[in-house]
Amino acid sequence: MKNTHIGIIGGGQLGLLLIQSAISFPVSVAVYDPNPECSASGFAHEFVQGDFDDKEALINFCKKCDVIIYENERINIEALKEVKAMGIEIVSDFEDLEWIQDKFIQRKKLEEAGLPGPSFKEVMASDTRSYNGNLPVVQKFKTGGYDGMGVVIHKDQDSIQNAPEVDSVFEEMIDIKSELSVIIARSRKTKETVVYDAVELISNPEINLLDYLVSPARIDQAILDKAKEIGHQIAEKFDFNGIYAVELFLDQNDNILVNEISPRTHNSGHQTISTHVTSQYEQQIRIALGLPLGSVEEISPGVLINLLADDSTGETVYKGLEDAYEISNVQYTFYGKKQVRPYRKMGHAVILEKNTEDAINKIEKIRNTLTITSND
Ligand code: ADP
Repeated sequence: MKNTHIGIIGGGQLGLLLIQSAISFPVSVAVYDPNPECSASGFAHEFVQGDFDDKEALINFCKKCDVIIYENERINIEALKEVKAMGIEIVSDFEDLEWIQDKFIQRKKLEEAGLPGPSFKEVMASDTRSYNGNLPVVQKFKTGGYDGMGVVIHKDQDSIQNAPEVDSVFEEMIDIKSELSVIIARSRKTKETVVYDAVELISNPEINLLDYLVSPARIDQAILDKAKEIGHQIAEKFDFNGIYAVELFLDQNDNILVNEISPRTHNSGHQTISTHVTSQYEQQIRIALGLPLGSVEEISPGVLINLLADDSTGETVYKGLEDAYEISNVQYTFYGKKQVRPYRKMGHAVILEKNTEDAINKIEKIRNTLTITSND
């Protein structure tokens, strides 16, 4: 095997962590991103600035690489089609990105594949305010939503009267007991598939972001097994190639329903770097290189928190860093973002304690110790 030149489209934190893993392999890495100050740019062998929808620039970037990994979903698919036609492999398959990008088509595909999910209905922009089905209902924009933006819960007709007039899918509102996520790694070459144990996602409703994540999820073994089985089913039904994250709902009757799939490494798998023998990032590099997958055996339970900026805007300043590093059994990762904006994700911390409750008890301490703010 000769040295492989990997191209990563997107230089955010996921790109950065892919590079962290790639340095252990016989590879060089190029990163493509519109922002020259993105997290990954300074750590790549080569950085190319370009817009995600600039077809020509993207093709020129990919042509110089042996294999492409994309780390976000806002990419010009037409460019990827041409790149694939040139014989350059892309992980995860962009054909999946195409249907996953549209939340209605994604729901339809999951339903056709016989996977459990909420009932749903396509509602076009001009009809959102005349919706007369069951309430409450969850409106999701078909495309362009992220981190809960583009998701609106309508509890009554008043809310429907003010519904955003955007092409949407309206979903049955599930009475959620807990939100889970499983990460799937699948090799196209051998079809070998591994699924990490489900993690539990606890979100902060005020800012629509993850509050903390518990690995593995605090649920019965039978439900953990079921979540894993759903991961395997999805991987096989859609013939996946690469890393995919599947967000799941566990309802009050312990039914597991599929919420959504991301065809890439995912925030809900950051902790695998510390908690598992092989991280999701290493798996993605192995898959890109056609190497066997690594073990997903757990090394330690862990709790992950996002390190968010406070409500300020300006040049990033870290306060309390020394004291934060005094706290035992915590691993910090900072994304190197030079500017803070209110509640921007600036990094994450993984708390490694044998006892999950001990880890959860450290969250407040970390948050009270470390402040990410601006000088302004
Ligand atoms: P995004 O991709 O923007 O994060 P999600 O589809 O994950 O959007 O939805 C964001 C949050 O909204 C979920 O984490 C969940 O808390 C809630 N939600 C989404 N769909 C439903 C549903 N059908 N029933 C109940 N809550 C939902």
